[in-house]
Amino acid sequence: MAQTDTVGTTRTGDRADGSPDRRSDEAVLSLDGVSKEFGPETAVDGVSLSVERGELLTFLGPSGCGKTTTLRMIAGLEEPTDGTITLAGERVADGTGFVPPERRDVGIVFQSFALFPHLTVRENIAFGLADDDEATDARVDELLELVDMPEHGEKKPDQLSGGQKQRVALARSLAPEPDVLLLDEPFSNLDVRLRVEMREEVRRILKAAGVTAVSVTHDQEEALSISDRVAVMNDGKLEQIGRPEGVFEQPESKFVASFLGRASFLKGHLREGKVETGVGRFNAAALEGYDTVYDGTPVDVLVRPDDLRATPAGEDVADGTVVSRQYVGPSFIYRVELESGEAVHCLHNHVEEFELDQSVGVDLVADHPLAWYPR
Ligand code: ATP
Repeated sequence: MAQTDTVGTTRTGDRADGSPDRRSDEAVLSLDGVSKEFGPETAVDGVSLSVERGELLTFLGPSGCGKTTTLRMIAGLEEPTDGTITLAGERVADGTGFVPPERRDVGIVFQSFALFPHLTVRENIAFGLADDDEATDARVDELLELVDMPEHGEKKPDQLSGGQKQRVALARSLAPEPDVLLLDEPFSNLDVRLRVEMREEVRRILKAAGVTAVSVTHDQEEALSISDRVAVMNDGKLEQIGRPEGVFEQPESKFVASFLGRASFLKGHLREGKVETGVGRFNAAALEGYDTVYDGTPVDVLVRPDDLRATPAGEDVADGTVVSRQYVGPSFIYRVELESGEAVHCLHNHVEEFELDQSVGVDLVADHPLAWYPR
């Protein structure tokens, strides 16, 4: 059924956004069966994964799922109760030994950016570098260029915009060339519009620096847009890890499907190569990995708003009724309650209007294999 790429798979070539892909199959960071208990509570439960050199991995999950604790264990700010963490070939935590944060080659970009207010931008960036005037000056110039702020070096943090502060925080963390850069909810201190703009910019900077990075967020759009791979966590466990397109289009569990975007599940029955649902009968070949051995199985089929279209109901064809309509500028999202009792969402262009309580037909228009789950 649903597929994801294997942990540690090598992919080469550039991303669709044109950013260079400098990953190799060399794991810079590995977690093997890592758990963390706080008293009787298990915050992180047996997480295993590896991160390749130059890769940007994002932990994504709801509040309390254990993503920050995982990041803190990588940094050395928490000691695992169980499991092994390997960083740049060194076992930094394995139950017998523990390397403290100051002896790990890890950079951290904090939510608050944590810039020193009394230091200039140049001094902030130079903070973690050795006292070699010429080499430090050259490195700071290089980083100012990288974060597109060459003319702001003499300013103090309070003279900078939110986006500029984030650029400086990144430059400061990148300056000593850490093995891994950790980013803790890096966009949460920015307003919504700037957040979207900075996502692209942060990805560009990280890729240009070639750094291996691990970030944490509860914002699925952010995780999907900036990451090479996304690690979805739920209740301390790693639910799924894979490329953004993989986890979005082939979620392995209903939790992942529902957490990543708007998801509805159509109850269906597989019979003789067809699947019968509340929006009609369609060919089971539309289901990811369908095989005749599943015939006779009751299933839940994942459908997202762009997979379905409402049509004005014909005289004897009505699949359901419009029960809510959400206008989001370029489009409408209609919630349709089906005759079968289920509710689905249909995404429409802003000129395609349906009224509340209008009877509609609902067509499946997905042009990709649908994820599904045996019930
Ligand atoms: P959020 O997005 O809200 O920050 P999170 O996914 O990052 O959530 P964690 O901060 O890792 O979640 O917390 C996971 C669980 O561990 C939570 O239930 C939390 O209450 C608990 N926890 C975290 N740190 C501690 C601590 N120092 N002492 C006791 N419990 C803790």
